[in-house]
Amino acid sequence: MQSCKLRPHHGLCIRFFENKGYSDSFTGNMAEVIRFLAEEDPEIAITMGADCICSPCPELSAGRCSLSGMAAGYDEKVMEICGLTYGQRMRWSSFQETVRVCITDAGRLYEVCGDCRWYGICGNK
Ligand code: SF4
Repeated sequence: MQSCKLRPHHGLCIRFFENKGYSDSFTGNMAEVIRFLAEEDPEIAITMGADCICSPCPELSAGRCSLSGMAAGYDEKVMEICGLTYGQRMRWSSFQETVRVCITDAGRLYEVCGDCRWYGICGNK
């Protein structure tokens, strides 16, 4: 893995990940992506739609996400709050810091994804 397209709200999901997810292949891939980001601090491209975390997800079929409405809404909120643009490229560490400062440290996680099925985990950290 040399670089990574990342949809914006996954900057939050990565922060709170604790090996729970949609399937074993999904959690295994997500753990591998997180390891890569932490070790390599690659340039990431902020993308719309499926990314390197979505690829093995059972909710993704023929490139279409069954949860796309909710996920796209989370993405839009992150973009708006953090002042980012789709296609923007930046170091993973810079993206992670932006999301941390603008959303988690600012107490705005519920505003972004309060109706997510995993919020009970993420919102309590
Ligand atoms: S609540 Fe859902 S969308 Fe929000 S960080 Fe957690 S897993 Fe990601």
